[in-house]
Amino acid sequence: MSKRVLIVGGGMGGTIVANGLARHLGDELRRGEVAITMLGDTDQHFYQPGLLYVPFGRMRESELSREQRQVLNRRVTFHVDPAKHIDVEKNQVTTDSGKTHGYDYLVLATGSRVMPQNIPGMVEGAHWFYELAAARKLRQALDTFQGGTIVVNVNAPHKCPVAPIEVTLMLHDHFRAKGMGEKVRLIYTYPIGRLHGLEPVANWVKPEYDRLGIAYETFFNTSKVDPAGKTISSEEGVDLSYDLLITIPPHQGAQVIDDSGLGKGGWVPTHPRTLHREGSTNVFVVGDTTNIPISKAGSTAHFEADTLIDNLVSLIVDGRMTRTYDGKVYCFLETGMKTGTYIWFDYETPPSPSPPTQMVHWLKLAYNRMYWLSARGLL
Ligand SMILES: Cc1cc2nc3c(=O)[nH]c(=O)nc-3n(C[C@H](O)[C@H](O)[C@H](O)COP(=O)(O)OP(=O)(O)OC[C@H]3O[C@@H](n4cnc5c(N)ncnc54)[C@H](O)[C@@H]3O)c2cc1C
Repeated sequence: MSKRVLIVGGGMGGTIVANGLARHLGDELRRGEVAITMLGDTDQHFYQPGLLYVPFGRMRESELSREQRQVLNRRVTFHVDPAKHIDVEKNQVTTDSGKTHGYDYLVLATGSRVMPQNIPGMVEGAHWFYELAAARKLRQALDTFQGGTIVVNVNAPHKCPVAPIEVTLMLHDHFRAKGMGEKVRLIYTYPIGRLHGLEPVANWVKPEYDRLGIAYETFFNTSKVDPAGKTISSEEGVDLSYDLLITIPPHQGAQVIDDSGLGKGGWVPTHPRTLHREGSTNVFVVGDTTNIPISKAGSTAHFEADTLIDNLVSLIVDGRMTRTYDGKVYCFLETGMKTGTYIWFDYETPPSPSPPTQMVHWLKLAYNRMYWLSARGLL
């Protein structure tokens, strides 16, 4: 009987795993010894990192998505039929349409979603760019902004931990280029006692903000937004007035994870090195869905996926695992409209941002266009 690999979620992590397995197990797939099935909730594959550029008109919406079928290896069976219940005892997943898919190996790759509705007034009073419709709306707000105070408000947990810094530095350059530098005051808020969760990044960004005149408020855990009074308040008792509020809303994992009793808030307890779901030997987790305390980022999903591909291939072919994930994350970071830097780190090595250069900015822009090769496993 063939070995059945079932992948739930067709974003970055799930797609890279599916394509990598299909490439390495080509012979087994042809002989019918292996079957790879993916369940998704949309027929589109969306490149989320491109959303950073939408408010500034620097990436076209048409560049951000492709048909998922075109991105996937043709030997992967793909159903647009979201998982409704995942039963890890019976090794089966039931979908919205009522179908049941059994598996020998399950990969959970359901990602994370923004939850602005979790903070009173946030939906009505704030803009964000972590979803396409919201990023489009923010673009209109930036186009018509006449000056005043912009609060960039960061809530946790959230994916792409460097995006709030990037958008702040890009806003600074954007308004300076429009000749409005003197008219715009930027305030950045962060929930803990420094400007970023990773201490070396916080130490790097503080003098940058000081140099550029960007104000900040740390220990700011958002309690509510008052859209009429245009204020945002923290649990620590600080009220900030704004003319434009840009938030990174708090995130949760997918509903199906909670509904299936696999993890609180949609985060699945995951072994940080083997990527097993804690308590399972045939269920693996990749990307934002894990509860591993590292950055929720596409590069994390990619490095985890590489580990998982090797392990699933060797499990299927040899019955054993060969690799562990070392916590590797690599992120390009825009430091304005013309320069960028990068950070990499793993479980043992802390990040160390290098001085920004124009070259890294161009590399990030180039990667945005090359992502589709990466999703196919060609990069
Ligand atoms: C504005 C922005 C900028 C970013 N910039 C960067 C960056 O510069 N570098 C970087 O590394 N990362 C960046 N990221 C983060 C990166 O996009 C995510 O971390 C990455 O997409 C996570 O991959 P994933 O596979 O875990 O989840 P996703 O790519 O979100 O995929 C999850 C998939 O699962 C699907 N799904 C959910 N529930 C179900 C269900 N019940 N059944 C079936 N399918 C389901 C979802 O629809 C989705 O398609 C950025 C994100 C944003 C929003």
